[in-house]
Amino acid sequence: MTKNGITYCKCGAPARPRQRNCRSCKNASTKRSVLKRKLAVQRLEQALHHLTIENPATRREYESQFRTRAVAICDEDGMPAIAGFVVGFLADRMLQVMDDDGKNHFVRLDRVVEDFGRTVDGEILHVE
Ligand SMILES: [Zn+2]
Repeated sequence: MTKNGITYCKCGAPARPRQRNCRSCKNASTKRSVLKRKLAVQRLEQALHHLTIENPATRREYESQFRTRAVAICDEDGMPAIAGFVVGFLADRMLQVMDDDGKNHFVRLDRVVEDFGRTVDGEILHVE
């Protein structure tokens, strides 16, 4: 809203120069979007947790060696080849790993290495 050449924020305070809202409304809205992003990451972690197929023995062994769900699947020479996230713990030390294209790979625990550098939205997905 503009009155006498001055633009007002919807709260009634004068807006910032060349903007439509005031400083405190802008701060509040930034805070809201940061919280929203945090919530989105939390939901993703929860979804991942609920979607996980559980084999307690494989999961225990995985958690004793890995701190995150971000892994790389190694090729026959032991070189990290495919990056993905562990989405399932199967019987007999098998893992279900979803790669960046959403493709599932079923690999033995000793074929994957932890991928420390990978994050989702700047935050590492921790194993609970
Ligand atoms: Zn305002």
